[in-house]
Amino acid sequence: MKLYNTNTQSPVSVLIVGGGTAGWMTAAALSAKLAGTGVSIRLVESAEIGTVGVGEATVPHIRHFNASLGFDEADFMSRTEATFKLGIEFRDWGRKGDAYIHPFAAFGRDIGGVPFHHHWTRARRAGRVPAGGLDAVSLPIQAARLGRFGHPSPDPNSFFSTFSYAYQFDAGLYAAYLRSYAEARGVVRTEGKVRDVSVSADGHVQAVTMENGERIEADLFIDCSGFRGLIIEGALKTGYEDWTHFLPCDRAVAVPCANDAPPAPYTRATARDAGWMWRIPLQHRAGNGHVYCSGFITDDAAEQALLAQLDHPPQATPRRLRFTTGKRKRQWVGNVVAIGLSAGFLEPLESTSIHLIQLGIGRLLDLFPTSRDMDPLDAVEFNRLMDLEYERVRDFIILHYVATQRDDTPFWNHCRTMAIPDSLATKMDLFKERGIVTLYRDGMFLEPSWIAVYLGQNILPDQVDPRAALVPDAEIDRLIAMEAENCRRAASSMPAHGEILSRYKAQV
Ligand code: FAD
Repeated sequence: MKLYNTNTQSPVSVLIVGGGTAGWMTAAALSAKLAGTGVSIRLVESAEIGTVGVGEATVPHIRHFNASLGFDEADFMSRTEATFKLGIEFRDWGRKGDAYIHPFAAFGRDIGGVPFHHHWTRARRAGRVPAGGLDAVSLPIQAARLGRFGHPSPDPNSFFSTFSYAYQFDAGLYAAYLRSYAEARGVVRTEGKVRDVSVSADGHVQAVTMENGERIEADLFIDCSGFRGLIIEGALKTGYEDWTHFLPCDRAVAVPCANDAPPAPYTRATARDAGWMWRIPLQHRAGNGHVYCSGFITDDAAEQALLAQLDHPPQATPRRLRFTTGKRKRQWVGNVVAIGLSAGFLEPLESTSIHLIQLGIGRLLDLFPTSRDMDPLDAVEFNRLMDLEYERVRDFIILHYVATQRDDTPFWNHCRTMAIPDSLATKMDLFKERGIVTLYRDGMFLEPSWIAVYLGQNILPDQVDPRAALVPDAEIDRLIAMEAENCRRAASSMPAHGEILSRYKAQV
């Protein structure tokens, strides 16, 4: 972050419009990281409009966000009814009847300097992989299947250091948790609806006017108003890059129900005829939803399909949502930065939205304006970085749809044969030809994640690294069997997931 020269530069005033997960994450982070700089932060939100009310599963990076604010894990998890998340189980994606978990970990270790997946592919082609398949050589998958959880070891030499984890939490409670943190650090909250946005001739926003007539001025506006993009789109007409041709799902219906006890330490995503369903186990309930493509199923049929597979009665009226996958053409325009759903949405298959919020906040802090006159270069750099992140996440999500062998419904026929971005096509070609994943050392999903989806959805390379053949088959079999045994033993030694949650609850 740039530092202020207090003689020549004045701290800015910030107005955050919106108090969902994006608004309160932004308020909490800015209040902590800009403390002492003189920057003032105000947030407006409308209880009447409410929040999107979903968004419960995360990726491991959220732990860094929480830690940077000094959150205690036991306190945070207990107050947000959170569970641990070791990965996502994908059912029926490659073929009907298939199931694999995308864990936050690599499968196996390099053997003879050659990545494990090359040896695995050779052994699998020769019909020599042990029972349990790839799951058998993943500690977090073994733990997830057993309903166990243990914290990774900080010792890089420990077998227990080889995985990571995230959380599943009640998004409403998380926003409340962040709110009390932010308010304690000086963030001023205003309840009410923004009625109007005043834009000056140079395209900068001057103020918002509330329904009660109050005019709120600021130097920097952060649009966290959700899908509507009240300022970035409503006032500034920035435009939206529509990615529906790559990610055709455009609707969702969500409903909570009671959860199994103890809750599972992973999210489930089950492919359906015209989309997929999620199940996110929390401590006090399970979140369920059906994400679907309106071109292939009606809203009523999608809702009925969701309700029909619940194993406990619904706890609320199902909530229907509409969205367009894509992103705002620019996320920082003049003195307005869009964060959250106002910036874009890529559908929740890999639980990436909250992470994109976190990235937006991080980039904003890196480029935070040092004076009331915004430097246009800040916006250029912010937009470049965020575009890159959105495109990387987009490609990884598309992979799940296109890497299917399903031909049982018109929706899956469409997904299997649809055009994909060149950036993804190149990656897939390199993997299919020679198992190469070295282009993946960027973005939030690294090599292990791509390998999990490729192999989990039966995409095997035609050739593997020729060096893999230099290690004798018997040695590979021995090492794979040993890895599987280590994973089995380590997972069995972990405490039950529910036990840790109860211990945490008892501490607060
Ligand atoms: P919202 O929650 O919509 O908040 C908007 C805020 O703006 C509200 O406070 C509202 O009152 C305020 N506002 C709007 N207009 C006005 C106005 N005129 N005046 C005053 N205030 C106003 N993300 C994940 O990371 N993991 C998931 O598992 C996940 N699942 C999802 C499932 C679905 C079906 C959908 C649609 C999204 C999912 N997401 C998920 C995304 C996640 O829900 C959002 O990224 C997150 O909740 C942030 O939303 P937000 O704060 O941008 O918007």
